[in-house]
Amino acid sequence: MARILIAEDEPRIATFVESGLRAHGFSPMTVADGRSALDLATSGDFDLLLLDIGLPVLDGFTVLQRLREGHHRIPVIILTARSSVADTVSGLDAGADDYLAKPFHFEELLARVRLRLRPEGTSPLAALTCGGLRLDLRTRRAHIADRTIELSAREFTLAEAFLRNPGQVLSREQLLSQVWGYSFDPGSNVVDVYVRHLRRKIGPERISTLRGMGYRLEDVP
Ligand code: CA
Repeated sequence: MARILIAEDEPRIATFVESGLRAHGFSPMTVADGRSALDLATSGDFDLLLLDIGLPVLDGFTVLQRLREGHHRIPVIILTARSSVADTVSGLDAGADDYLAKPFHFEELLARVRLRLRPEGTSPLAALTCGGLRLDLRTRRAHIADRTIELSAREFTLAEAFLRNPGQVLSREQLLSQVWGYSFDPGSNVVDVYVRHLRRKIGPERISTLRGMGYRLEDVP
């Protein structure tokens, strides 16, 4: 389980990122100042650092600079306000691996995190399959037999959540956290709406509704 250090002093963003990462099987921990970020990032206990630039005590650039001066190779993804992207690009020269402008979609963060965690030279899982439904994780397209099914980014992420848990009942809350990263009100019906879209595209028999419990992907022969 990859351990991810989040250095972010805005509680709302920190909570959004931390709960989303936890829902995706990562082990995240949040600190809210640059000094703690530097101490923990050099401890060897973390596999990746998500680093806000505007942090109290030490700013993100200083943290990054000290890490690299100390030859700590932990992958670093900078989180920055959209208005400061130009500054951030200079941060990349200072040794960051990637950056993400706020506000960002959780999927975007997740994709960057997965990319940076993957050991160099290894390829990611290319496809997920269940009952004749195949998701190509590189092209982000779905296929049933020879037929290609165009899914929106959100529909694809929802289908991916199902295919990563075949035969398991997934509650609305689980799907909300995995696909939307808790950025929506849990009382919203967005999950039901998207399940409906997905059924229309991949076939209604593939996703069962379990009243009061959630949804399940079926292994259709
Ligand atoms: Ca900040």
